[in-house]
Amino acid sequence: MLSEFQLIEHYFKRAPRPDGPARLGVGDDCALLQPVAGETLAISTDMLVEGRHFFPGADPRALGHKTLAVNLSDLAAMGARPLGFTLALSLPAADPAWLQPFSEGLLALADAQNIELIGGDTTRGPLTLCVTVFGSVAETQALRRSGARAGDEIWVSGSLGDARLALGALLGELSLEPASLQIAAERLHRPTPRNALGLALRGIASAAIDVSDGLLGDLGHILDQSRTGAVVHADALPHGLALAQRDLQEQRAMALNGGDDYELCFCAPASLHQQVLDAGRRSQTPVTCIGEVRAETGLLLLDADGQPLSVSPRSYDHFAP
Ligand code: ADP
Ligand code: MG
Repeated sequence: MLSEFQLIEHYFKRAPRPDGPARLGVGDDCALLQPVAGETLAISTDMLVEGRHFFPGADPRALGHKTLAVNLSDLAAMGARPLGFTLALSLPAADPAWLQPFSEGLLALADAQNIELIGGDTTRGPLTLCVTVFGSVAETQALRRSGARAGDEIWVSGSLGDARLALGALLGELSLEPASLQIAAERLHRPTPRNALGLALRGIASAAIDVSDGLLGDLGHILDQSRTGAVVHADALPHGLALAQRDLQEQRAMALNGGDDYELCFCAPASLHQQVLDAGRRSQTPVTCIGEVRAETGLLLLDADGQPLSVSPRSYDHFAP
C-alpha cells in the first residue's frame, strides 16, 4: 500500500520546467509561481464529484483529462495564458491501477497545454477531484462576461450538443447507434479546452464564457452581466457529428440547452467579423456566428425562416429543486 507521500512523489511530482513560470513545484509548503510582468493573475477552481459529475467507475484516464480540461476552459474563456495548477484529491484508496492512468491523462493534457502541476492536497475520502488553475492576462484584455455591446455578433466555437447526447444515451433517455455513441461519448469524456482560440481572441472579443451548463444559460450570463439582450438563430448552431444525425427538435434541444461541451461562446463587434474568422483559423478552431447582441433585454430565438421559437433556458443547477 502506498503512503500519502509516496503517492504524491510517484504520480504527481515532476521537476518544474526550467523555462516555465514555476520557480518551485510539488514538495514544499507552497509552490512559487512567477507572474508575468505587467499582467494580472487569472484564477479559477472547478470540482468534479463522483456520482454528481461523473459515473462511479468512470475511466480514470479520461477523468484526469476532464478534471484539467474543464479548468483550462475557464482560462480560455478569460483569454488567459495557462501558467500552473494545483490538484486537491480525495480518494477512497491509494490504488495504483487508478492513479497511474489518472495522472497520465491529467499530465498529458498539462504538457499539451503548457501548464505545470505545482501542488495540491491529498486525502482519503469519497472520490472528488478539484483543480485550481492559474493563468495570466493583461487586465485590459481579459474577456469578461460584462463586455458585450448592442450590435456585437455572437459566436460559438467548435460544435454543440454531442456531450449532452452521450449523457442522454448513458442515462437511458435515448438510444444511439454504437458509432454515434462513440463519437458523442468522446466529447463528453474528453472535452477539448479552447485555449488557443481564447488567446487569439484577445483584443477582438468583447465578452466570452465557456459553455459548461448549456448555450442559452451560459449566453444568458453574458447578457445579464452586460445588461443587453440578443437574437439567436437556433438553426445556425453548429451541431456535433452525432447530433447532426438526429431530428430537428432534438438538435435544437441539445445544442441550445445541453451542457458539458466546453466550447467558447463569445461576442465581438460586427466590424471585427473577419478578425474573428482569422482568429479561428490561426487557432485551428472552427467558429460560427449564431446571432447578434441587441440593446433590448431578453433573448429572441429564431428558426431558419426567421420565426420566433419559445425560449426555455434550462441550464444545469446543482441546487434546483
Ligand atoms: P502540507 O502539509 O504542507 O499541506 P502536504 O503534505 O499536503 O503538505 O503536501 C506535500 C506537498 O505535496 C505539497 O507541496 C503539496 O502541494 C503537494 N501535493 C499534495 N497533494 C498533491 C496532489 N494531489 N497533487 C500535486 N501535489 C500535491
Ligand atoms: Mg496539505
